[in-house]
Order: sequence, then structure tokens, then C-alpha cells
Amino acid sequence: GFNCGIVGLPNVGKSTLFNALTKSGIDAENFPFCTIEPNTGIVPMPDPRLEKLTELVKPEKVVPTTMEFVDIAGLVEGASKGEGLGNQFLANIRETDAIAHVVRCFDNDNVIHVANQVDPRADIEIINMELALADLDTVERAAQRLARVVKGGDKDAITTKAILDRIQPHLAEGLPLRSFGLSEEEKRQVKSYGFLTLKPTMYIANVNEDGFEDNPYLETVREIAAEENAVVVPVCNQLEAEIAELEDEERSMFLDEMGMEEPGLDRVIRAGYALLGLQTYFTAGVKEVRAWTVKVGATAPEAAGVIHTDFQKGFIRAEVVSYDDFVSLGGEQAAKDAGKWRLEGKDYVVKDGDVIHFRFNV
Ligand code: GDP
Repeated sequence: GFNCGIVGLPNVGKSTLFNALTKSGIDAENFPFCTIEPNTGIVPMPDPRLEKLTELVKPEKVVPTTMEFVDIAGLVEGASKGEGLGNQFLANIRETDAIAHVVRCFDNDNVIHVANQVDPRADIEIINMELALADLDTVERAAQRLARVVKGGDKDAITTKAILDRIQPHLAEGLPLRSFGLSEEEKRQVKSYGFLTLKPTMYIANVNEDGFEDNPYLETVREIAAEENAVVVPVCNQLEAEIAELEDEERSMFLDEMGMEEPGLDRVIRAGYALLGLQTYFTAGVKEVRAWTVKVGATAPEAAGVIHTDFQKGFIRAEVVSYDDFVSLGGEQAAKDAGKWRLEGKDYVVKDGDVIHFRFNV
């Protein structure tokens, strides 16, 4: 599976968000999602298409796809120097696929801010600085090791060393690598270093209920994100925590009253999914309708491999109907009759929403 680490300074609303995320799906039937460890939660992906398919196929069982969130607490200034839980914190981030950086954009006199005032730019800089310094440390160690190989004339080492030398001053200024502008090829070249500031990142701007508009804190986060090509998701974690506690029926009533189409958490989960370059395909049988996650660009056999490695090894063909055709025509047979059912081979690149049935040898 893929996971997203939740980071941010103390008292910005990380735990509130994490708890809301892990509670939000608790009454989803048939799904054994859980909090694996105290700080890790598996969250069902909200997807209205799955509900539509369920209405049409009326299966015995419905299984959503999931995202994993990890609450990474304990960052303080100086983490990259090993202060506080610094090293542990950085090691935990290294294991995540993407980062959700929670930023405090609300005033609340009862909640102490670590630096005594709400200042999103300063907060973001502290976290980014620690992550950049951790990457700087990685660069400096790697450059030292590479120096010897470079002398030996190794071409690959020369290229890598040249990239490291170029990014070093950027990191030394405390700036994230995602704003450096490495080419895709250069990113591949340094992939094995697992740079923290190259991980796909979104800012979760934690606002008050009335803080979605005319909120200078939120505007500041938007400005910073724009400079870095990062995404911003404004959300009121406090409100989300309350929504997550409600039963289904109460929840829809509450959302209606608030004029919200869906819980803000759904936007957070979806943003995490998009950040990771993920998409969904479906299997729709009478026993089970199920959503599966694949990377954008995955081929049919790779998608089959998500269900079972044997499906990938023994892949013969994929029977495919697009989601739109499946739903507008009213199911697989109707799609077949309308000529919208396709047999695709091993080079087929799966599209978001494809309804697939795999043929394979066992
Ligand atoms: P963490 O240290 O980042 O995990 O922060 P917490 O989630 O424990 O939140 C710190 C405090 O801020 C708690 O008392 C929360 O109730 C409060 N808080 C969190 N989100 C919001 C919000 O959106 N608005 C307001 N007013 N308070 C919030």
C-alpha cells in the first residue's frame, strides 16, 4: 500500500486530523480497516463511483480501496541535529511516500502556539528547514563517498556528484528540493537517496469553521505552496473530528446544515491519493464490487498484479468497460450489447474508473 505521513509543529492540529481520519470510516460495513499501530491508520477512499456500481450490480460485498496515514509527532526545531525525537521523526518520514504538512491557520487563545503567535510562514519554514538540513546531511555524506569513485572516472558517479554539488547550496539555505527544479531524469539519478524534501507534499491549512475565506493565514500558505508547486487543502480539523463522530444519518443532516457536500476529510484523502499519482479501477462481480489502486500509467498485467501476483504472471487478457459506459448503459451485458466491451492485451494502459475482468492462466 501507499502511505502519507502527517507532519507539523506541535499544537497545530495533527492528532485531531489523524483521529478524525481513522474514525471517519468506522461504520463502513464489510471492511476490516483499523489502526495498525497507534500512529498508523488505514482509511477507506471515499469514491461515489463505488456506490453507483453497487446500486447497479447489487453484490454481496463491497470493498473500497484505502490510503494509509501515519501521524508523525515530535518535530521540534533542531530535529536534524538530533534534538527531541528528531532522529526518530526523520526516520519515520523517510518511510512515507508523501507528506501532509499541517499548518495552523486558526486563532484560539486557549491553545498555546509553540512560538506564541500564529505565523504560518515561520511555522512552515521551521519544518522545511529541518527537512532540508536532513537532506543536506545526506548530500554531504554521499558527496564524500562519491568523491573517490569520481576520481576513478566512473561516469554515473560523475553525473550524480554534479547534481549533488548543484543542490547542496539550495539545501544549505533551508529550501526544499521540490522547488529546485530537477528534471525527471535528474530525480531518477538521485532517487536512491530518498530525499525528504523531494517527496510529494501537500499543505493542510487547518482553519477555524469560519476561516475558509478572508483568512490571511490561509493566503500565506497558498503563496508558499505556489512558490513550491505544492498543493493546499484547507480544512477545519476540529469540525472534521466532530463530523467523524456522527452516525451516517446524522452526518448527512449535519453536512446539509453546514452547506457542505462532503466531509472535508474526503478532500484530504483524495488529495493524498492524487499526490501519489494513484488512480482506481474496479472489479464488479455479483459476489464483490471492489475498488483497487494502481499508479497512473500501470499496464493491465500490473493492475492484475495488485489483486494477486498469479494474475499478473498468468495474465492473458483484460475485459474492460469504462466506468461511464458501465453506468450509463446499466451494466456489463448492456455494455457488451452496445459494443462498449473491449478485450485488451498486456500493453493496455489502465484508465481511471475502468471496470475490469481479468483472464489468466493458473
Ligand atoms: P498536534 O499537537 O499538532 O497533534 O495538535 P492537536 O491535534 O492535539 O491540537 C492542539 C489543540 O488545538 C487541541 O486542543 C485542539 O482541540 C485544537 N484544535 C485543533 N484543530 C483546531 C481548529 O481547527 N480550530 C480550533 N479552534 N482549535 C483546533
